[in-house]
Amino acid sequence: MEDTTNLKLDVKRSKFQAMGEARCPQCREGKMFKYPFWRVDKFSEMNKNCPVCDLKFEVEPGFWYGAMFVSYANTVALLVVLGVAVFYIFNDPPVMYYILPITVLSVAIVPFNFRISRAVFLHLFGFIKYKPDSKNA
Ligand SMILES: [Zn+2]
Repeated sequence: MEDTTNLKLDVKRSKFQAMGEARCPQCREGKMFKYPFWRVDKFSEMNKNCPVCDLKFEVEPGFWYGAMFVSYANTVALLVVLGVAVFYIFNDPPVMYYILPITVLSVAIVPFNFRISRAVFLHLFGFIKYKPDSKNA
């Protein structure tokens, strides 16, 4: 049998992985959110500080307003991709055939989009340096 005791500790996440998993930009281990995104009743509840390195996630007051622009960009990207898909799959159908799937899908991805937007914004515009040994700080 393989010894997997230290396997989890040795894994170093890339910035991209940490972003995708909504982990702390400083230690890349602590989770930003308290619950998984599929908990639609509590998807937006965040940890104030990183549970591993104690980094304050809201870098400055109102920091998360910037994440709205990331969220907006994600929604527009979805709209364009879905619009083009509907155009080619249904051979340019009437407008309602575009509005319905785009509306339903953009509402359905809200929990995921909310979280990924905050994670991306914090990682790209938080200007926080990765410190692999910040666990003990
Ligand atoms: Zn951390």
